[in-house]
Amino acid sequence: MQNQKLVFQDLTRDELEGVLLEVLKQQSSSYVRHSDGAIVNVELSDESIERLRKKAKYQAKQIYQWFYQRFVFDFELMSDLAKNLRTWLKENVEVYHLDEKFSQQALDGTHKFLWTLFDGKTIESVIIPAALKEKKFEEAFAAKVSGPGKAESASAEKTVVTPNPRQVSPSEFAGKESDSELDGDDWARLTVCISSQVGCAMACKFCLTGIQGLDRHLKTHEIVAQVWKLRSTAPITNIVFMGMGEPLHNYDAVVKACKIMLDQNGMSFSKRKITVSTSGLVPAIRELGKAVDISLAISLNASTDEQRSQIMPVNKRWPLAELMKACREYPLGSHRRITFEYVMLKDFNDSVQDAARVAELLRGIPSKINLIPFNEHPGSEFHRPSDEQVKKFQRYLLDRNLTTTVRISRGRDILAACGQLRSIFGSARGTEKHKDVQYSEQQ
Ligand code: SF4
Repeated sequence: MQNQKLVFQDLTRDELEGVLLEVLKQQSSSYVRHSDGAIVNVELSDESIERLRKKAKYQAKQIYQWFYQRFVFDFELMSDLAKNLRTWLKENVEVYHLDEKFSQQALDGTHKFLWTLFDGKTIESVIIPAALKEKKFEEAFAAKVSGPGKAESASAEKTVVTPNPRQVSPSEFAGKESDSELDGDDWARLTVCISSQVGCAMACKFCLTGIQGLDRHLKTHEIVAQVWKLRSTAPITNIVFMGMGEPLHNYDAVVKACKIMLDQNGMSFSKRKITVSTSGLVPAIRELGKAVDISLAISLNASTDEQRSQIMPVNKRWPLAELMKACREYPLGSHRRITFEYVMLKDFNDSVQDAARVAELLRGIPSKINLIPFNEHPGSEFHRPSDEQVKKFQRYLLDRNLTTTVRISRGRDILAACGQLRSIFGSARGTEKHKDVQYSEQQ
């Protein structure tokens, strides 16, 4: 056994079982003294090893259920485990906890969290509630700020509240406080958007995280801990890897985290409820399809190679033809589709001609298109298209029987776009452009 403690959230259930089996074998070993005085370990019989294997399997299941389903993280409190096992776990396994630096909830219920990691780096996670029917942002803003119907919708549209680092609020998800923004009684879905890296190397031009550059990959436990922590305070139903980072650039840690999230004795998320979103790392898409059964999203954002390469450098390495081929060959289960995210940038990729080319690109791929009108952030060179233009684009695709939704910008009043909180509070690496953003925020 290593001197260094194992981190619990790094272990799949199979790995935990393997660790426990070794412990049980050591505890079951017996020794005999030979006539020459030598002490020798008596080998365990196959039957004994099989019995221990079953025991380890059962124990791993128990521990997983305590931690991931009952949110008990103190091994001492796992009351149906043998005392010596609890002691061994306490001495050899550590549970990783994220340190909350800041959290803030938007008027629409979106709740953003900024975490500090062991090395002082920061990452973000966001809880995004979806009601069966939501009021428009402007209505919600009016109800919250001035009472129903009093606020000017135009000024609400422009309002951006910059978080004050001194006003640190608790991590509890306070979704119910936002019921005034909902027409329905309850949330239909609570999606947590998680980070896979500190920063990102992909340098997409429309993304604040891309501007910040890559600091490092997250470890499996740092990914799993985001979901565990938030699920312990809110009934999370869906997970999307759409926070900071390109998940497939941190392939091994992300795949392992997905396995832990899917485990029926652990977090027990359905394969349809976990979505990995990629900018288009073609070889990793092919590997992902073989490694784990989850939903795939592609951050498309353009209708031609020329256009896409301008805003997403990854396209120079794996152009659209290769990306679409990988999508066509991606193993989809029954009733499953690939989601294509399309950030709409005013006068850049928002024309009806773009919509026509998108329809052509997706021909033959079971797909769902998610249009995302650009969420403007300080320092961005792009603008949000008009609602009319977004509707025209959507209508063109709907008329061609392509399922197309428009994502309502969530958390506009709390800078909920990926990388925004971190740019103000965090340890972003700081390109020249990023320093400008920070500077202007402090004025
Ligand atoms: S959009 Fe995604 S892949 Fe592109 S820079 Fe931002 S975080 Fe990275």
